[in-house]
Amino acid sequence: MSAIVDETHDPHLQSWVASANDPDTHFPIQNLPFGRFRRDAAGPWRIGTAIGDQVLDLERAGLIAGRDVTQLMQAPVPQRRALRAAISRALAVGAASQERTQAALLPQSAVQMGLPCEIGGYTDFYAGIHHARAVGALLRPDTPLLPNYKWLPIAYHGRASSIDVSPSTFRRPWGQQRGPDENAPPGFKPTARLDYELELGWLVGCGNARGDPVPMAQAEDHLFGVVLFNDWSARDIQGWEYQPLGPFLGKSFASTISPWIVTLEALAPFRVAPVRPESDPQPLPYLDSPFNRSAGAVDIALEVRLQTAAMRAAGNTGDVMSASNATDSYWTPAQLLTHHASNGCNLRTGDLLGTGTLSGARPDQAGSLLELSAGGKQRIVLSNGEARSFLEDGDCVILRGVCARDGYRRIGLGECRGTVESAVP
Ligand code: MN
Repeated sequence: MSAIVDETHDPHLQSWVASANDPDTHFPIQNLPFGRFRRDAAGPWRIGTAIGDQVLDLERAGLIAGRDVTQLMQAPVPQRRALRAAISRALAVGAASQERTQAALLPQSAVQMGLPCEIGGYTDFYAGIHHARAVGALLRPDTPLLPNYKWLPIAYHGRASSIDVSPSTFRRPWGQQRGPDENAPPGFKPTARLDYELELGWLVGCGNARGDPVPMAQAEDHLFGVVLFNDWSARDIQGWEYQPLGPFLGKSFASTISPWIVTLEALAPFRVAPVRPESDPQPLPYLDSPFNRSAGAVDIALEVRLQTAAMRAAGNTGDVMSASNATDSYWTPAQLLTHHASNGCNLRTGDLLGTGTLSGARPDQAGSLLELSAGGKQRIVLSNGEARSFLEDGDCVILRGVCARDGYRRIGLGECRGTVESAVP
């Protein structure tokens, strides 16, 4: 059980790394996320913890043996909690071995971050109910949610090979798009409806054997932590190809995740009851548990910023396009994992479970341009006078996530940044 608040969450705990005590940092000593970094392109990836504006090399600090992140992620929960406690003690004011730990610190600005783990499989859910309802309403005004929506977490299998780590760039994809009328052939050209999707990605810790479903009571023991996730989408390619089997090339050209995995342990103080109106069908028994009803969701405030090339040139950090919360998911992380494994499918360490676009209930809280522009029909005017229905070349999208609760130290997920480059000519 990883949702336990212990001495590592003590809000009064301070680090001897001064920047970790900055009230605005995403990485105080109460967070301790894991990532992979290297000092130069030729060096090996090493496992680190973000602390303030520094990264702690865990092997050099003597806190782990080796550089195998899979081994670290698949460790049983008691071992994970013990490592977290040891890192916390090493970084806390008054630590016994401060000299050795200090020698293992590097400024984050001096390292390159890699993907935090090998992502062998990637599944994207559709758990953001406000997004599902808003997009469904564009297609089917009378029945925005299909009859299965409140019974099971809808998903498709995504493409793991094109997941990249922030800060990332990718070229505007080419693809087949519907012709101007029913009799016209489709075109093959760069997408004109490129979009972002504000999501979270849950990473699997310990996997399950093929044929062995994971009961809800154990689901969280199989989750390692969470990253920000941008599921870039080409709406015109998607709109032409998605029936009858679902998204394909409209999604698989690029996805971006944030570099630091915030662990289930770090999220323990921010657990809340999932929102499910009593008039809705209650989950089938295999997707239900007492813990899930009381604290299965996580309160993570989310935000999307858009920085155009013109804004960047002017030193402008970008406009906030919308804000929502991880609690806008209809299904909890445990339900995503348990449902995924319910047919005996084996999940493996490092598999990524995308939540689906997390839009808030209000239209201005939408986590994609598809919703904000009402299917491309409206232009969104930006603070510098530019306007967008979809992304243009040079646009940079920045996702952020923060957990805050009275009585606890605020922690963050860092940021997930991706920039659109022009299409291959
Ligand atoms: Mn998605």
